[in-house]
Amino acid sequence: MASSLIKYNDKFVPLPFGLHNTGVICYFNSLIQSLFGCSSLNQYFLLNESKFQKKDNKIAMLYINLLKENLQTQHNKIFNITNLLNILLIKYKEKNNNKRIGIGQEDVCEFLTIFLDVIDDKNVERLFMHKYQCDIYCSGCKKMTNIPDDKSYQFEIPLNNIDSYEMIYLKKDKGDTINISNYIRNNISNMSDLHCTKCMSLNKLIKINRLRFIPTILTITYLKYQNKKLVDFPKFLEYENSNSKKKYIYILTSSIEQSGNIHSGHYICKSKRKKYTNSKINTIPYLFNDTVYKESDLEPTSNTYVIFYHFYNSIDI
Ligand SMILES: [Zn+2]
Repeated sequence: MASSLIKYNDKFVPLPFGLHNTGVICYFNSLIQSLFGCSSLNQYFLLNESKFQKKDNKIAMLYINLLKENLQTQHNKIFNITNLLNILLIKYKEKNNNKRIGIGQEDVCEFLTIFLDVIDDKNVERLFMHKYQCDIYCSGCKKMTNIPDDKSYQFEIPLNNIDSYEMIYLKKDKGDTINISNYIRNNISNMSDLHCTKCMSLNKLIKINRLRFIPTILTITYLKYQNKKLVDFPKFLEYENSNSKKKYIYILTSSIEQSGNIHSGHYICKSKRKKYTNSKINTIPYLFNDTVYKESDLEPTSNTYVIFYHFYNSIDI
């Protein structure tokens, strides 16, 4: 389930810096700031700089250069990543028939997928990619059918969908707490308006997802466009694996908040950054609102949209 996890390492997290918002790119600034909080991604980019240079991977090189500039030194400078976004869009359009994208406010989750697809590196992909074994179960005739695995860079928790067990749970329970660890490990959803192919019953099918591979970086999206509900999330997630007799611990590193709606909203990000205190290195959360950044927290708000966890450590159980 967790063969090649890479530990969170302060050393590869930059010091905080702001990003110019040239046009409507707060979604992209927030995404890049969140990714800079993922130490294993930064570590991989830094260790493989010459490879990316040889391949003329301009996106990776722009990311690496910005990272290197801010890894040891606090500049108090505002940087501009419009170039990074423009090259990303050009590469994406080359691959996808000139699909119209990047004109106005975009969805930050879609851009994570675009970023990882355009970087086009199997090891980077592996840092984010999880795998579910999926079955369809009919509660009418008890038929269980295995369907192809779900593979994705992001875990989605639906909060405004009648098919969502989590939403039903939240309505019943005033605590507004989802056990994210459990949800990620196993989850089920109703498949409305579908007939069972065996017994032909309507609305008796459920999809069962069982986690088979957990990556180093967990990106979790709350699907709640119309439902700005405050949902709590913990600072740490834990996964026990009875086969390896280990407990895997993940630490919360970033969150992206979206105010307004998907087309005319604003994105900000909270992410951990390096701080020197009495010659000791530490990482603490900062809030990044384009050019502005300040020390903050990683508490949930009703605008929380995406949260990032990073593998931290494993302990024997
Ligand atoms: Zn059936």
